[in-house]
Amino acid sequence: MPLPERLATEGPLRPDTGSDRPDTKSLVYLSAPDVGPLEESYLIAALRSGWVAPTGPDLEAFESEVSARVGTRGAVAVSSGTAALHLALLGVGVGPGDVVVVPTLTFVATANAVRYTGARPVFVDCDVRTGNVDVPLLAELLRQLRRRGERVGAVVPVDMFGTCVDYTALLPICAEAEVPVVEDAAEALGAMHQGRAAGSFGQAGALSFNGNKIMTTSGGGMLVSDDVSLLARARHLATQAREATPHYEHLETGYNYRLSNLLAALGRAQLVRLSGMIGRRRQLRDRYAKLFAPVPGVELLGSEDEQSNCWLTVIRVHPGRAGWRAADLAAHLRNQEIETRPVWKPMHRQPAYAGSESLLTGAADELFAEGLTLPSSSALTERQITTVLGAIDEFLATRAPALSA
Ligand SMILES: *Cc1c(COP(=O)(O)O)cnc(C)c1O
Repeated sequence: MPLPERLATEGPLRPDTGSDRPDTKSLVYLSAPDVGPLEESYLIAALRSGWVAPTGPDLEAFESEVSARVGTRGAVAVSSGTAALHLALLGVGVGPGDVVVVPTLTFVATANAVRYTGARPVFVDCDVRTGNVDVPLLAELLRQLRRRGERVGAVVPVDMFGTCVDYTALLPICAEAEVPVVEDAAEALGAMHQGRAAGSFGQAGALSFNGNKIMTTSGGGMLVSDDVSLLARARHLATQAREATPHYEHLETGYNYRLSNLLAALGRAQLVRLSGMIGRRRQLRDRYAKLFAPVPGVELLGSEDEQSNCWLTVIRVHPGRAGWRAADLAAHLRNQEIETRPVWKPMHRQPAYAGSESLLTGAADELFAEGLTLPSSSALTERQITTVLGAIDEFLATRAPALSA
């Protein structure tokens, strides 16, 4: 079978950032896909194998490779991290009338998945040093909900920016309250907490392979769990709840959530490179840490966690002490075509969730106001990294003349 024309004639699949053309300005993205010849060869092999129709050997292999990496008994590959969260919540029995505790500092998918089940999210604030759920506040919220006689269907801790929640503190609290844990590890594949891998801490975990995550299938996700019957049920629901009959029998409403075999092949190549990609993100974080260490009023979120996958490096800028705001640095970098973002806008501030209940300390609001996520791609070239660090240096020199003297 000949190579498809487009793949045969074009260069590497890495997005062209202009970095190899010295005379053009290089666009630097926050977290771009890091794909190259290995991904290309896996994809072509899958295409040539004939397994283009939905399932196939790469899909099964991808599931067992990811579950081996995370340390769970099994996995179900799906079309997005959001789908994995939805199936995980259904798998632990969440349904209409339940409340589900969700951190207010998260991507909207965490809360949306709760609503898909007919349950209501209740938001809880974060620890301002990490952005992860404030565990003592969570304990307080669970007590309040219990006193009111609410049925709490699940707690969904989110491993924010690739750093694991303090599960040593969280798990006993949820166990005592007899509430299942669904881990949103969408940002955290490859991160660890005390020797255990992100994704493995709850009854079920959700991973994302969206284009901006630590590794990508261009779009995809995975449900991981030790619970074999939860996995079997999720697999069934993800394939339109089709019974094993030739005539398409359906006893309940299912979903079309399965990942395709071709995308699984892409994922397998990414998984081979995952540790290397994490290493590159960590090196980048170390360079940011070094650059900001002498700058007053700037701290790196979760910087004391050495087992983070370093998905995104986030700084918090205290304007009073720094003499400038995170938004000022963002504007300076934007002028040089370097992308940054604020941290997630908290769910209790989202119009889509107006009227939802929440227990807050103000921490997520502070991080939203003062946080900035910096370019963290593993695909950044040395030249791009130098450009970014140089641009930050240049900004700091204008803001704090005493430091650069
Ligand atoms: C990306 C993300 C998701 C959703 O993943 P998709 O694959 O984009 O559906 C869920 N939760 C968090 C915290 C995320 O960052």
